[in-house]
Amino acid sequence: MTNNSVIDIQNSHLKSKDLQDNTIQKNSFSPPICSACKGKMQISEGDVIYGDRWYHNSCWKEIQKLADMISQ
Ligand SMILES: [Zn+2]
Repeated sequence: MTNNSVIDIQNSHLKSKDLQDNTIQKNSFSPPICSACKGKMQISEGDVIYGDRWYHNSCWKEIQKLADMISQ
């Protein structure tokens, strides 16, 4: 029991440290850019990663519409 609670504390400490590091290193971390509209991504539900490219949910739907038109 004692060991478990020690591990929990260490994990939560590591997580908060990671978040701080991400904030500090913001300049070296480039936010993902949508490959369709070149807009910066704010990752949210429905957004798509295709290979190493990112797409907004709405942009991806447009791409799929075009792909459907081409394949038909
Ligand atoms: Zn987009």
